[in-house]
Amino acid sequence: MNNNQDSTAHLQLFDTYRRGLFPFTSLLEDVVSLYVCGPTVYDYAHIGNLRNYLFVDILRRVLEANGYRVKHVMNITDVGHLTSDADSGEDKMLKGARMRQRSAWDIAKYFEAAFLKNMQQLQILSPTVLCRATEHIDEQIEYIQALEIKGFTYQTADGIYFDTRKLHSYGYLARLDIEGLQAGKRVDLGGKRHLTDFALWKFSPDNSTEVERQMQWSSPWGVGFPGWHIECSAMSERYLGKKFDIHVGGEDHINVHHSNEIAQCEGRHGQQPATFWMHGRFLQMAGEKLSKSGSSIRLDDLISEGVEPLALRYLFLTSHYRSHMQFSVKALHSSALALKRLRVMLASWPDHGSVDPVLKNSFNRLVNRDLNTPQALALLWKVTKSELCEPNKKATILYFDKVLGLSLKMNPVSAAVPQHILQLAELRQQARVDKNWRRSDVLREQLLGLGYQIIDSAEGFKISRK
Ligand code: AMP
Ligand code: ZN
Repeated sequence: MNNNQDSTAHLQLFDTYRRGLFPFTSLLEDVVSLYVCGPTVYDYAHIGNLRNYLFVDILRRVLEANGYRVKHVMNITDVGHLTSDADSGEDKMLKGARMRQRSAWDIAKYFEAAFLKNMQQLQILSPTVLCRATEHIDEQIEYIQALEIKGFTYQTADGIYFDTRKLHSYGYLARLDIEGLQAGKRVDLGGKRHLTDFALWKFSPDNSTEVERQMQWSSPWGVGFPGWHIECSAMSERYLGKKFDIHVGGEDHINVHHSNEIAQCEGRHGQQPATFWMHGRFLQMAGEKLSKSGSSIRLDDLISEGVEPLALRYLFLTSHYRSHMQFSVKALHSSALALKRLRVMLASWPDHGSVDPVLKNSFNRLVNRDLNTPQALALLWKVTKSELCEPNKKATILYFDKVLGLSLKMNPVSAAVPQHILQLAELRQQARVDKNWRRSDVLREQLLGLGYQIIDSAEGFKISRK
C-alpha cells in the first residue's frame, strides 16, 4: 500500500539478505509485520543501543506514513544470552545478578524499566507486543523438539546443539565462508561437531549456584535454559507467524544471531522467516564501538549534563542508519542548538497554514529511499529559508515532524517547565529513593544553576523558577 501521490516515492528498503535496495511490498495488503531483536536487560542501555531503536522508530513511522498499520513485536532477552557468542561463558543476566547482588529477576525488571523509560524519553513508539524470553519457555522447547524430529540437533555434555552442516544454506545472510572457517579453526570446540554449531538448550551444572538456580527450567533433555537464538525464532513465530515482513537488529547480529535464527527457521519450516532483513550500523566513540561492557554513555548521563533527550534524537537523525556514526559532545550541542532554533522559529510563525504538496512529496521521496533522514533534515532547513509564507512553512515542517518525532511544536518560551528540567528533577527524585544523597545534592545544585528550584514534600517534589 502506498498513499503517496507520487509513484517515484514508492518505499525502498535495503535488505541485508539480498545485499541491495528493493521496493517494499508487504505480505498482507495494509499491515506490516515487524520483528525487532530487543535488549539484553542485564545493565543500562547505552546510547549506541538507543540509536538502534531510534532507527526502528523511524522505520515504523515511515511505514505508517505510507498508510500501513505496523504490528511491531520486540523481545526482551532476560535469559540465555551468554557473554561469548561461541556458547561459552556466563549468562549475562546471571553475571548482572551476581555483580549487583540482586536476583536475576530483579535485575531484568529494573533494567527493562530503565530501557523503556529511555525509549519514551526519545519519543520512540512502543512496540505493539513486548515479549520476554522467560515467559515463552514452552514455545522454545516446542521449537527445539520440532528441530529434533527433523534431525537437526545433537546432544553434548553441556546441551542440545544445532548441527549447521545439515543445512546447505547456513551462513548465507553473512556470506560466511564455512569451509574457510572450519579449516582455519584452532579453537577448542568443547563437544560441538562444527565451529558454527550453536546451543539450543544448555544444561544447568549439577552443582548450580543459588544465582544459577534462578534461571532453570525442566525440559525433555534435562534441567537448564534456552540458547539465545531460539527465543527470537519461537517468539516471532508465535506473534507474527512463520513468515513476516521485516526483521531488524544491529549489525553485530548478522554473523551469528540472525544467521542462527534463519537456520532454525529453515530447519523447521524449509524457509527463512523474513522478506527483509535490516541492520543498523554501530555508534562509535573515538573510533571504538560503544558497548555495555566497554566504553559506554547513558542517556541519563547526558540528561544530568542538562541535555534534552530529543537533542540526541536530532543528532542520530543527522546520520543514515547504515553508516557508522561517531558520537561527540560538540555535535550533540550543535544538535541541541539546531532543535532550539527550529522551535523558536516555528513558535513565531502563525498557525492554520497548509502543507505544501511539492515539498511533501520531496520529503516522502527522501524518507522512502531507505530512510534517508540526513537529507530529510536538510530539506527541512531549506523549507525554513524558502519563499513559502510562514503559516505554510510551519504546516509543512510539522508534517515532516510526524516522521522525525522532534516535537517541533513545543513552545520554547512557554512558562511551563521544560522537559529536560523535569527529567533532571526526576533523576534527583530517583537518587533520593535510592538514598544516594550525594547525587541528589549534585542534581539540586545543577537545577539551581539552570534557574530552577526544587521543593520536596510528602507527595513528591515541586519545581519552580528561582
Ligand atoms: P544488547 O542489549 O546488547 O542485546 O543490544 C541491543 C541492541 O543494540 C542490539 O540490536 C545491538 O545490535 C545494538 N547495539 C549494540 N551496540 C551498539 C552500538 N554501539 N551502536 C548501535 N547499536 C548497538
Ligand atoms: Zn533476536
